[in-house]
Amino acid sequence: MVKAKTRKILLLPGDGIGPEVVREVKKIITWFNKNKSLDFSFTEELIGGASIDANKTPITDEVFFKSLESDAVILGACGGPKWDNLEFSKKPERALLKLRKELKLFANLRPAICFKQLVDSSTIKPEIVSGLDIKIVRELTGGRYCGEPRGIEPIENNQRKGINTHSYTTEEIQRITRVAFDLAKKRKNKVTSCEKSNVMEAGVLWREEVQALKDKEKEYEKIDLHHMLADNCAMQLLKNPKQFDVILADNLFGDMLSDEAAMLTGSLGLLPSASLGAKDKNGKIRSLYEPVHGSAPDITGKNIANPIATILSLSMALRYSLDLDKEADLLEAAVQKVLDDGLRTKDILSPGKKEVSTTDMGDAIVAKLK
Ligand code: NAD
Repeated sequence: MVKAKTRKILLLPGDGIGPEVVREVKKIITWFNKNKSLDFSFTEELIGGASIDANKTPITDEVFFKSLESDAVILGACGGPKWDNLEFSKKPERALLKLRKELKLFANLRPAICFKQLVDSSTIKPEIVSGLDIKIVRELTGGRYCGEPRGIEPIENNQRKGINTHSYTTEEIQRITRVAFDLAKKRKNKVTSCEKSNVMEAGVLWREEVQALKDKEKEYEKIDLHHMLADNCAMQLLKNPKQFDVILADNLFGDMLSDEAAMLTGSLGLLPSASLGAKDKNGKIRSLYEPVHGSAPDITGKNIANPIATILSLSMALRYSLDLDKEADLLEAAVQKVLDDGLRTKDILSPGKKEVSTTDMGDAIVAKLK
């Protein structure tokens, strides 16, 4: 059989349960290499606390440059109590912020999928969430979290003032809108853009520029575009989440809405995410894939962490960075089949289901790929 081109994947297991869940991803990559004649070359490097311990820095230049050269980077998690007392600029999480900033990852994609097999894990009524499948596209490098001026400054009468600036340009808004529209074209063509245009000028601009892009570009003429105030979207997500397909929001509102949507699905252990940058001159998109959860120090080393969020992060990498939609479908179907068989890690266990370890869950998913 003819081998496909080599695709470079950089694995950054990180801290806590990171190495445990990334180990299951390695099994899947190895299976694809062996059985689908794919030529993934993967290397594994330290990041976060593990890198601080070994190299005195959360990410070395060498690892950073490797991330630039990779076709996809898959991260486990960074941080944990051991490093909590370090000053802010030296904490493990700085590695993640550096990667996001330097790779110019301006788009964050988070699916909120409620597997029918796990509908009881959600706190919302089954009929509201069963079969839910939405994607939140969050702008990641602008807005309230990144705008200047920022800081805390003294003012008169011994008082202080905290300042964060919310601003977006046409270019920043249209760049993230393209990501949402392109994603919608692969799905149901429906986008709901959220802002607060009733009280914020930056919200007015957001609404106008999103609409202008749709109106001016022929390739987006079929997009069914809706505008919604972000607070209403927060309510609608609880009331009738299946009305949404792709939700587009800025950094701040996207942060809130994606956490809310995540909890509709029941468990942190199931939620993947992708952070994407712009295409470079060779058409390559810089990207970082990671589970939404953190390093879970409370369950580290017990072989009970749910590896599905990280495995589905690999599936997003196959789809969005490696152009391997069929393989992504295969992997997602394998996850579904394992859940159909009633296998559950502790975090999603319910009566009548079989509890399995992290390693068993990974093995079961690999077995269903066949
Ligand atoms: P967390 O996501 O690590 O854990 C929250 C709860 O969810 C814990 O009870 C944990 O056991 C459970 N959980 C998380 N992932 C799970 C999985 N895969 N399977 C089963 N249960 C799972 O959040 P936290 O406790 O607030 O943070 C712990 C550390 O992780 C902190 O140092 C934090 O800074 C870091 N963190 C890192 C990232 C990242 O690297 N992207 C994200 C969030 C938190």
